[in-house]
Amino acid sequence: MTLSAHEKAAGAAPIAFDNSYARLPAHFHAAANPTPVSEPWLIKFNRPLALELGLDAEALERDGAAIFSGNTIPEGAEPLGMAYAGHQFGQFVPLLGDGRAILLGEVIDTHGRRSDIQLKGAGKTPYSRRGDGRAALGPVLREYIVSEAMFALGIPATRALAAVVTGEPVYRDRVLPGGVITRVAASHIRVGTFQFLAARGDTEGLKVLADYVIDRHYPEIKGHERPYPALLEAVIERQASLIARWLSVGFIHGVMNTDNCAISGETIDFGPCAFLDAYDPAKVFSSIDRGGRYAYASQPAIGQWNMARFAETLLPLLDPEPSEAVNLANDAIAGYGPRFQNHWLTGMKAKIGLHTEEDGDLDLVQGLLSAMHRNEADFTLTFRRLCDAAESSAHDGPLRDLFANPADIDAWLFAWRERTGREPLSDAQTAAAMRAVNPAFIPRNHRIEQAIRAAEDDGDFSLFEALNDVLANPYADQPQFASYTAPPAPSEEVLKTFCGT
Ligand code: AMP
Ligand code: MG
Repeated sequence: MTLSAHEKAAGAAPIAFDNSYARLPAHFHAAANPTPVSEPWLIKFNRPLALELGLDAEALERDGAAIFSGNTIPEGAEPLGMAYAGHQFGQFVPLLGDGRAILLGEVIDTHGRRSDIQLKGAGKTPYSRRGDGRAALGPVLREYIVSEAMFALGIPATRALAAVVTGEPVYRDRVLPGGVITRVAASHIRVGTFQFLAARGDTEGLKVLADYVIDRHYPEIKGHERPYPALLEAVIERQASLIARWLSVGFIHGVMNTDNCAISGETIDFGPCAFLDAYDPAKVFSSIDRGGRYAYASQPAIGQWNMARFAETLLPLLDPEPSEAVNLANDAIAGYGPRFQNHWLTGMKAKIGLHTEEDGDLDLVQGLLSAMHRNEADFTLTFRRLCDAAESSAHDGPLRDLFANPADIDAWLFAWRERTGREPLSDAQTAAAMRAVNPAFIPRNHRIEQAIRAAEDDGDFSLFEALNDVLANPYADQPQFASYTAPPAPSEEVLKTFCGT
């Protein structure tokens, strides 16, 4: 018998949980129910994502304040915190775990993919240590905006399903309104999850986790003759690709600790993250990154460092012979550099309209970046206006305006036109291809800041809403939103970003 849509809506649970992480060994996680809040209010519900996940969007919208605050635990959820360790700014901490995040469970989406549904900011867990298990509204809004913007840009990232205000204050350096974000991820397994088991000398647990990860994220490896070396290679490949994508849009993660590095290859934990305005490879926004460890151009090398930490955890699985295990790990880690370079160069070449290969291509890309750096040209605008220049040199003016010394870009444009002249596409085709990889809209820091200020100070979510709307179509011109393409005025510039924890 099949149920009609109405009966289904009335009778079935709004989220058809299918939990697997809760079935893993007991020390991988700890049960943790959300702590109810006084006056939850649903400020944002991501209906298209809910539908893609196969959830009952009507029921969730109706009961969203209760469900997405953690006040009501939906049927089938098995709330838990995940255990993990991590290197934080290079220092190893053997037990971190979800201190303010609670995994409700997993669903199989309409494409057959398994996703985690997690509440962040819903109260203490056994891993909270001295933390309050809460999140301030500001960081919730930041994560909502940036994670959805990353998705729209086509970059692997966790998603945002809902945001609520709790009606309760959180105490940071000042009193702030509390919020909860519902995060959707391919999974929340991190390099730090493997490190947690490795630090305990739990080889059996490592094998269970590695097999689980292969099953869930790398099914193509199943049945491989040497599955664990293959897993290491596959994770390294996705990480190299991901970080190349970050660089291609000017993204700075800000806190690339190993506990914030997802094994699935998704961008995770949008704490002090920010996008470049003017191009500066040494740029750091995060208030806690005093040494510049996670600066824009340091990210590829830090990605490799994180992968080396991952490889170390796998050593007992890579080969029964320890020296051979080390050789395999070293080879895989050495492969990160060429993999990254390949993704980065392919991506940067596409940004300047090159799809064939010639010897001088790397120099051409670097020549543009150097000119941008010398002239403090805006990263996003330079590439977007270059799309217009590709169509015709009659459109060079707005691009030249971005350079303090336009002669700098003139010289580069001359060499670039000579090179693109040998590409098979027409100028119009090249421009169209470039517009598909060079966004007009990114979540600029000052816009995020303005949206957070209006929400926190005045309870006004209209800027937050507008920003989400604009960023849903980053590669379209959307002339009605032209002001969102602009870099900050000096008075609007954001100098520092904060984790908000
Ligand atoms: P993050 O900097 O957000 O990656 O968090 C690092 C670690 O601190 C993780 O174990 C978090 O769960 C924990 N943590 C961050 N903020 C809080 C909080 N407000 N309460 C409890 N734990 C927290
Ligand atoms: Mg984290």
